[in-house]
Amino acid sequence: MINIAIDGPAGAGKSTAARMAASRLGFIYVDTGALYRTVGVAALRRGIPTDDREKVAAMLPEITAELKFEDGVQHVILNGEDVSDAIRRPEASMAASNVSAIPAVRAFLFGLQKDMAKNNNVIMDGRDIGTVILPDAQLKIFLTASAEVRAKRRFDELTAKGTPVEYNTLLDEIKQRDYNDSHRAAAPLKAAPDAVLLDTSDMTLEKVVDRITELARGICADKKDGE
Ligand code: C5P
Repeated sequence: MINIAIDGPAGAGKSTAARMAASRLGFIYVDTGALYRTVGVAALRRGIPTDDREKVAAMLPEITAELKFEDGVQHVILNGEDVSDAIRRPEASMAASNVSAIPAVRAFLFGLQKDMAKNNNVIMDGRDIGTVILPDAQLKIFLTASAEVRAKRRFDELTAKGTPVEYNTLLDEIKQRDYNDSHRAAAPLKAAPDAVLLDTSDMTLEKVVDRITELARGICADKKDGE
């Protein structure tokens, strides 16, 4: 199987670019952030503070998280219920960031991610895919952009949907999540030593997808040569 790991901070455009590249390559796109969001939503629904390590860990045996794919689109299932929309609500972002710092949560989601990559050609995006989940991925990409560019992209996206937001609030939230994600003890956000760095601040989405596809085709060709 071919495994491609894409890591990087919130709002770097990983999910859109990875989804488009996966569709061009005929790979499955796995969005691992959705899994942490699902655990975050499970805690919010139970009224458990998402930064309470013991209570969140104690909740884990009561929940099941699964991934389903319909026409190539990922759905996350929490205790049998499709929560794909609920996990996109704004409060789910910080909840995900909080629960993702808890080692028991990372351990809970580990096997599911490994199995997806073992059985499918995947592009998987997250924070620790190249470093922890798929250290043997044939291709690792670390996608970044400046915090300002990322906040502006998010601002444009939400404004286009008619959601009223303040640019500065988004910028503060992005900086806060960057800090949380890169300073936590458990699987902090960092580029794998063998990752290709891609700064998308001055790149269009089209260019980013082209570059990912080009790198992926390179490794697919290497694999064929080696057979
Ligand atoms: O990618 P997304 O923004 O949906 O992820 C939500 C949160 O889940 C991130 O802020 C990060 O804290 C966490 N996460 C993680 N490891 C991953 C994917 C996401 O810790 N592989």
